[in-house]
Amino acid sequence: MTKSAPLSRKPSLSTKLSAIAESATLKVDAKAKALKAEGRPVISYAAGEPDFSTPQFIVDAAAEALTEPANFRYTPAPGLPVLREAIAAKTLRDSGLEVDPSQIVVTNGGKQAVYQAFQAVVNPGDEVLLPAPYWTTYPEAIALADGTPVEVFAGADQEYKVTVAQLEAARTDKTTVLVFVSPSNPTGAVYTPEETRAIGQWAVEHGIWIITDEIYQNLVYEGTKAVSIVEAVPEAAGQTILVNGVAKTYAMTGWRVGWMVGPKDAVKVAANLQSHLTSNVNNIAQRAALAALTGPQDEAEQMRVAFDRRRRLIVAELAKIDGVTVPNPLGAFYAYPDVRGLLGREWRGKRIETSLELADLILDEAEVAVVPGEAFGPSGYLRLSYALGDDQLREGMQRLQQLFAQ
Ligand code: PMP
Repeated sequence: MTKSAPLSRKPSLSTKLSAIAESATLKVDAKAKALKAEGRPVISYAAGEPDFSTPQFIVDAAAEALTEPANFRYTPAPGLPVLREAIAAKTLRDSGLEVDPSQIVVTNGGKQAVYQAFQAVVNPGDEVLLPAPYWTTYPEAIALADGTPVEVFAGADQEYKVTVAQLEAARTDKTTVLVFVSPSNPTGAVYTPEETRAIGQWAVEHGIWIITDEIYQNLVYEGTKAVSIVEAVPEAAGQTILVNGVAKTYAMTGWRVGWMVGPKDAVKVAANLQSHLTSNVNNIAQRAALAALTGPQDEAEQMRVAFDRRRRLIVAELAKIDGVTVPNPLGAFYAYPDVRGLLGREWRGKRIETSLELADLILDEAEVAVVPGEAFGPSGYLRLSYALGDDQLREGMQRLQQLFAQ
């Protein structure tokens, strides 16, 4: 065998990882933070995290955990047994699904659960139906599992919710997985129980895995309930992986605790992966998550009420801008206006054709950070997180209204 590589040649990087894009939401956020650091009064609607502090009783539980030497050691890779029991209880309470703790893996945030869910069920060349607009991480996580994301787009005219007819039109012999997210990041859309049932039944009929991301399930408004697809269609449980976490409901994004729930075989292969990748999640954070799930829920409810107030404010203010259409988001903490009416025109002497250019203009001219639709699918939309203080929120809206005043 000959070894021909010349000594001077630099070894190449992984082609798979080189194809992964930097998170567009983090990029906008970084640009906004850099401008702020220069002293510019930037108002940012870019971040996907609550602005509240983690409730004190959760922080106290973590402090208490620091005094317990057992927490200084490795614990079971799929999670502390007591936390998995609490997650089983939460899954029954909020998703209507009875599971054994052995069907749960505690992960470093919902993000690792998303990654591991695709790794567990996707084979090379499999097509994964991905309703768009979608959260930026899904296509990359699908690609990392050697799957092919197949986007199914639903616009503002259908409140950003795909129909069974659209899914069926996109289905091929290679389709093995459907991603289902309700409430949705980036749109805030919540599927009705009937819509959820129809989609779940369709997936069961065709033997398609469902990966359902329920991380925003507790952030719903106007009496809406985000019914879990496994509650709407109990027969789907054998082919569904549920993703969830404490980040959004309890203002715990930095604590990094999420989980996946699913059929034993799927959870087992995911747990095996995690045992080689990260092992157990930080025990202190797991203890904090346990307190969050089992403690009083009134502070979480107060945060939800505050989000609801801001939601109504942002939707009303965005609707005042000519050329902007904004469906009423019933969940999560995002508004997703359709801004195609602002494109193909000049603003402040600049010709603006795409929502990417529009987001840049808004940051440069109004010192307001928003994420362009290109991060989540087609151009023509903006994502605004309303997880920021009421005064800032109001001020940012005034700046947008002034910028786009005719
Ligand atoms: N799923 C969705 C839809 C999200 O928006 C996020 C956070 N942006 C996550 C999962 C991951 O959350 P975390 O890893 O912080 O728990």
